[in-house]
Parts: sequence; structure tokens; C-alpha cells
Amino acid sequence: MRATIRTLSLATALAAAVGRVHAAAQQLPPGYIDPAPVLRAAAEAIGTANVRCLTIAGSAYAGMVGQARLNGYEVDWPRGEPLTNYVRTMNWDAGTSVEAFDRTPGRNPASWKYGQGWLGGTPLQRSSRQRFYVSGRFGWHVDGGAGPVAASPEEAERWQLDLWMNPHGFLKAAALPGANPVATWRWELGEMGRDGPTTRPERMTIVSITVLGKYRVDATINGRNLLQRIHTWVPDPVLGDMNYEHEFTDASYVDVGNGVRFPTGWHHHDGWDDNYQAQSVNAGHNGFGGQMANIRLNDCGEPVVVPESVRNADHSVRVTTESLAEGVWLLGGASHNSVAIEFEDYVAVVEAPLHEQRSLAVIDEVARLAPDKPIRFLVNTHQHHDHIGGLRTYMHVGATIVTHWKNYDFYTRDVLNYAPRTLAPDMVSQWPPTELAEGYQYEVVRENYWLNDGRRSLHISYVHPLDHSEGMLIAYLPSERLLIEADLFDAVPGEPRPAAPTQAHRALYEQVRRLGLDVTTIVPIHGRPVPWTDFARLVAP
Ligand SMILES: [Zn+2]
Ligand SMILES: [Zn+2]
Repeated sequence: MRATIRTLSLATALAAAVGRVHAAAQQLPPGYIDPAPVLRAAAEAIGTANVRCLTIAGSAYAGMVGQARLNGYEVDWPRGEPLTNYVRTMNWDAGTSVEAFDRTPGRNPASWKYGQGWLGGTPLQRSSRQRFYVSGRFGWHVDGGAGPVAASPEEAERWQLDLWMNPHGFLKAAALPGANPVATWRWELGEMGRDGPTTRPERMTIVSITVLGKYRVDATINGRNLLQRIHTWVPDPVLGDMNYEHEFTDASYVDVGNGVRFPTGWHHHDGWDDNYQAQSVNAGHNGFGGQMANIRLNDCGEPVVVPESVRNADHSVRVTTESLAEGVWLLGGASHNSVAIEFEDYVAVVEAPLHEQRSLAVIDEVARLAPDKPIRFLVNTHQHHDHIGGLRTYMHVGATIVTHWKNYDFYTRDVLNYAPRTLAPDMVSQWPPTELAEGYQYEVVRENYWLNDGRRSLHISYVHPLDHSEGMLIAYLPSERLLIEADLFDAVPGEPRPAAPTQAHRALYEQVRRLGLDVTTIVPIHGRPVPWTDFARLVAP
């Protein structure tokens, strides 16, 4: 009798469940689930309704994204100086975020926070205390007691995006108009998405929303209704749509009062967490991480006011032209220079730094200086991302890329490929040529390479040993006695000259001596031309 009732009630329950599944199936395609109850449970689990703002404090590390010594043979971005006394205040009602930390000055460009941001990141950091602000679409940086320096609109947008890429930020963003939440589910095992070594698959829900009207951001939510991973893609001049994610371990969520919880452990990736480069040659992923044990609920800090100078900052691309010799021009006006060299039938350009907007402006200027001569060659000094953001643009205009052979795998697989770039479509992804890898697209240098048309000669050679970057090339014009180099010796006006020679200085000096180059002037990619004698005095007093 009891068995019959149980059977009956089970049958009734099954019928009801099937009915529900059937009703849901009419609304959602297979593989999708309703995001609303998932978001509701997640917000309840960590008390999002009781949060206006949060201040988190602790210590952190920063990876130097795009500054690997050797792409493809290292598993992570190099670590910069540690970030101590780290404090971040996030205010979602106001749309503001302030980050402050101490970092030993020395090798950090001043406007470089962590992760991405090396672009335009000069001059060098002077003071230990660093503060970074974002309010709406404006971002700025304060180095010690100096005045505010505006971040580029791209950087500011990234910082604003970050405000929403944490558990409370995500759940608040999911409730905003235009978020358009969509949810799916999967079993996750090991490090597929879950942090730490796990052997038992766990059913996870993934909810994705639109943030800032542009970024599709997804959160992985576990069976305890906790957000473990928040992921999106950001536009990157080198890698295209770049993986960008924050991870928060389950165990690190702590109670901060009033039913509110927040993770104390923060872990961040720029690029895929793909150790040993099975999928890509790109060398790194860990861009930022920290332990934020001190979490203060509804500590909103001081109100953030956008400085006038930041509001009115001019971010337009400027190219200044300076003649270095007959048919040799220094194209400046930014943190990175290019050098154009006119040959009988073509032009060669040394360096394609920063990004496409910069490169298109430089290319237009070269076309003005030497009309009707194609840019036949683009000489690339090294693979650091701030020096290769325009490689695709030069390929777009038909230039052959001259680079060291150690960069070839990275460039052909990760950079100069057909993968569509959806967030900031560039020339190659909008109008791809019929071939990117066949034909005369690359000239790969081992030790020495000459561009020579009988009238003018450009000698390109490999510099070693270096701790800065493997695969480094310099370019020398023997008739003009000009030496073009990147990052081995910078001469930025206003920056203090180094007191003692570095390993890079010595390597450059030895290279010039070994090859017997008769240099009168060094033309740095960063800064102004300098007499060789000034440099020689530093290295060999
Ligand atoms: Zn470099
Ligand atoms: Zn550089």
C-alpha cells in the first residue's frame, strides 16, 4: 500500500517535472537554462543587495604583460616589483574605482598599473606611492605628489570594465538595463575552470551579460551559488580579442557583515591560462593577483572627481617628422618612434609600435614624405607588445616584416593570423589579404641582414646576450653613421640619465665594437637622438 502511494507520488512528481522541462524547452534552446534564478541565488548568497561600495586591502603582484623575454618558451609574464599597501575602492553607484599601492620605482613606466597598460606608459615612475582612478569613461594616474596624468580612452574603459568584473560588480551589472543575461551549464573538472586540483566533476552554471554596452562578460557560478570565475575578451593590438578573466577561490570568500561576502583571493589572467603553449605561442597569462584580507563593507572612500586636465586631455594621434639625414626621417610625437629610410625604389620603416591608429598615421606621413614609393620592409626590433602593435597594419599595406627568427612562430601563429578581431576590428581582419603566411611576407634574420640597393645600405644585426628580450635586432646606416635601437638605451627628455651602465647598455656597446660599426648618433625608439660619445662615456668611462 505504502509502496503504491510512493509510486503514485513519484509518477506525479515526474509528470510535473517533465511538464516543467517541456515548458522550459519551448522558451530556451537545448543547452540553455534560465539565468534569473541563478542570478537571484548568487546575489542572495553573498548579500549583493546590502552592498553600495567596497574597499579591499592587502598585497598584490603584477605581471608585465607583453614583456616576456622569450615568447613561446616561458610559461608566464615576468613579475614586476610587488605591490604593497594595496587598496582598491569600488563604488558601483558612482561608477568609480580607485586603486593605490606602493611599488619600488625603477623599471616601471609611470602610467603602468598592472597587466595591460604598458602602451604609452612613459615617463618612468618616480615615487613609490601610485594611485589609479576611473570615473565613468575617464581614467587617470597620480605618481606620488605629481599632477594627474590622463589614461588613454582604451585604458580607462578597461579600468571601468574591471569595476564590474568581480562578484558584486557582476551581479549589479546583471541587473542593469541592456545586460541581457543568458545562461548555460557544464561539468567542470580540475583546472578547466575551477581553481585547485579537483577530481570530481562539478556542475557549474555560466551566466553571461553585456557590460558597458559592448563586452560580453560571463561568470561561472558553482553549486554553493558562489562566483568563481568572471571572464571576457578585451581588444588588444597584438593578440586581438584577448582573454581577460578574474578568478576567486571558493575558500577565500569571507563574511564582511550584514550578510555580505567577498573573496579575499584575487587572481587575474591576460591571455589564456595555457601553460606550455599547446594552443598559442604567446608566453603569459598571470597579470595580477593578490591577497586582500582586509575588506571593508560600504567604505566608499573620498568622492572621486575627474580633474579638468583629464576631462580635456587630447588623445589624438600626432606624428612629428624630423630629418636625420637625406631621406632618413624620425617619426615621433608619441612614447615610441619609428624611423623611415628612403631607398631608390622603396621605403623601409624601422619599428611598428603601439597600435594600428598610430601606425596608420605614420604610414600616411611616410606616403607624404616619399610619394609613390611603397613601404617595402618593416624592420621589427623585438617582440615586446608595445613594439609590435602595428605589425598587422604594415602587413596590410604590403610590407615584408623583417624580424629575428626566434619571433617567427609567435608572429605567424598568434599575431599575424586570420582570426577575426571583433572588439576592435583592424585592417587585416576587416579586409584580409589572400595570404598572410605564404609569399614574401617575412624576412627572418639570424645574425646579419642587409637592405642594399647600391646607393643606400641598412645593416640589421642580432644583439646578444640580453635579459631584456631574446631576438633583438638593431639597424645601422653606415653612410649616415646612424644606429637605430629599441630599449637598449633610452634617451627620453626629462628622464634622468642612468648613473651606471646596465647589461643592455653593455650588450649594445659590445655589439657595435664587435661588428666594427662607426656610429656617430644613436637613434632610440624611446626618446631623442644622442651622440655616440655620450653613450660611450656611460658604458666605458
Ligand atoms: Zn622591450
Ligand atoms: Zn620599449
